[in-house]
Amino acid sequence: MAEHQDHEPLPSSDVRATGIDVVVVGAGFGGIACAIECKRKGHRVMILEKVRELKQLGDVSFFGLVSLGPNAGRILARWGLHERLWEVCRSANEIHIYDYLGGLIQVQKLSWPLFGAFAYNGHRGLIHEILFEHAKSLGIEIRMGHQVVEYWEDEANGKAGVKIQTGETFDADVIVAADGVKSLARKYVIGYHNPKPSGYAIYRAWFDAEEHGIATDPLTNFLTHGDQFYTWIGKDMHVIAISSRGGKATCVFVTHKDNAAVDGEWSSPGNIEDILELVKDWDPRCAAIICKAPSCIDWKLLVHDPLPTWLSQSGRVVLIGDAAHPFLPSSAQGASQAIEDGLTLAVTLNLAGKDNVRLGTRTWESIRYQRVYDAQVLGESTREKWHGAKVGDSGKSFEFPMPEWLMAFDAEAHAYAAYERIAQSIVKDGYYQPCLEEVKEAV
Ligand SMILES: Cc1cc2nc3c(=O)[nH]c(=O)nc-3n(C[C@H](O)[C@H](O)[C@H](O)COP(=O)(O)OP(=O)(O)OC[C@H]3O[C@@H](n4cnc5c(N)ncnc54)[C@H](O)[C@@H]3O)c2cc1C
Repeated sequence: MAEHQDHEPLPSSDVRATGIDVVVVGAGFGGIACAIECKRKGHRVMILEKVRELKQLGDVSFFGLVSLGPNAGRILARWGLHERLWEVCRSANEIHIYDYLGGLIQVQKLSWPLFGAFAYNGHRGLIHEILFEHAKSLGIEIRMGHQVVEYWEDEANGKAGVKIQTGETFDADVIVAADGVKSLARKYVIGYHNPKPSGYAIYRAWFDAEEHGIATDPLTNFLTHGDQFYTWIGKDMHVIAISSRGGKATCVFVTHKDNAAVDGEWSSPGNIEDILELVKDWDPRCAAIICKAPSCIDWKLLVHDPLPTWLSQSGRVVLIGDAAHPFLPSSAQGASQAIEDGLTLAVTLNLAGKDNVRLGTRTWESIRYQRVYDAQVLGESTREKWHGAKVGDSGKSFEFPMPEWLMAFDAEAHAYAAYERIAQSIVKDGYYQPCLEEVKEAV
């Protein structure tokens, strides 16, 4: 096992090559972050992504805002990306929370940096592109149009691999499956694949504020005064309106009950009239914003019971991000936890060394498991609290939770600090299971 004397994050320039080959499947936030950190930690890494062009990822997500909390922001700043990210996504200094009729519940003050780092809330395509370009600038090979159709592992030879749609195969010491909520790798790792409807869906839209009349309507022009965050909460539904790029762009989300099956498309064009029907009795500002959206996406939210493990039998195929643990947007942590996963895995592989890859991935899983679950639970409790809000409610308890354990976390420092203790206990006990109590009982 490689020795690491102090607990400071390793500066990338000091990192020696580990000889560990990593193939990452999926160039979403989790996959890109993992590849960048693998490079920084001395592993050889490449990414296989099924879409042919970056533009396709941007186009599909055109309607999306993504939130990266300070826990992920700290990592991106360490990569030197703060200036570029802050330019496209300044985070609001206040969250205005209203009941469904428009009575003020709370104004939550935010000041940046928070716990020493910035949050980045902005256009998913723009943020993703900055990370993608950064990965390329580090010399990471990203093969677009490579759809993985099969996984395999061969522990006798210390390898795992994938086959893509053309029949070409790639092998490596570790395959990192960052292939999202509809992960193919999940079926390989745990033997079944059943993301299920969460009972909720989100209508979402992103559009130019000036072009679509947000600035000229007195009911909506508050969204053009810099970066704003407004939410209306009530029975079984919440509406979020966010302005980005200093008020130039408007983003709206309507989270509502939806029990539709998800066998087919889980993200498809929605109907503005349907949203207007949902908000017809709500604060008229909601309808005034929504009716200006030129189009919207109807995004069915999928969930998955906690998986018994995120590792294949040999420990060489690893699920990260939404493939391992789909997040509800009310946590605003899906992308942040995927980034933490990827970074932590790069550290534990570095500390384990090429001859101990399995120990590296097991230690990684143990470090990540409970934290991810706690973050998921927080997202559910926020939604339940907001959907229970009544007219006349007020107070801090309705604020968007930004707990120190979640936001102040430095995943890199933590991985270095926790590695030795956890790895040793895995070696000593010769036995290992993730630490989530419910999962232990279930297996
Ligand atoms: C198009 C899109 C839009 C989204 N919009 C929002 C949003 O508006 N707000 C929000 O909070 N979250 C959004 N999300 C989810 C959010 O980005 C994720 O929760 C989070 O970033 C976790 O990232 P991930 O890397 O685990 O998965 P993802 O970001 O889902 O990335 C998975 C990647 O794997 C690729 N892939 C899948 N299967 C294969 C395969 N077999 N072979 C090769 N590549 C494969 C996909 O094309 C994708 O690029 C969106 C995700 C996607 C894919």
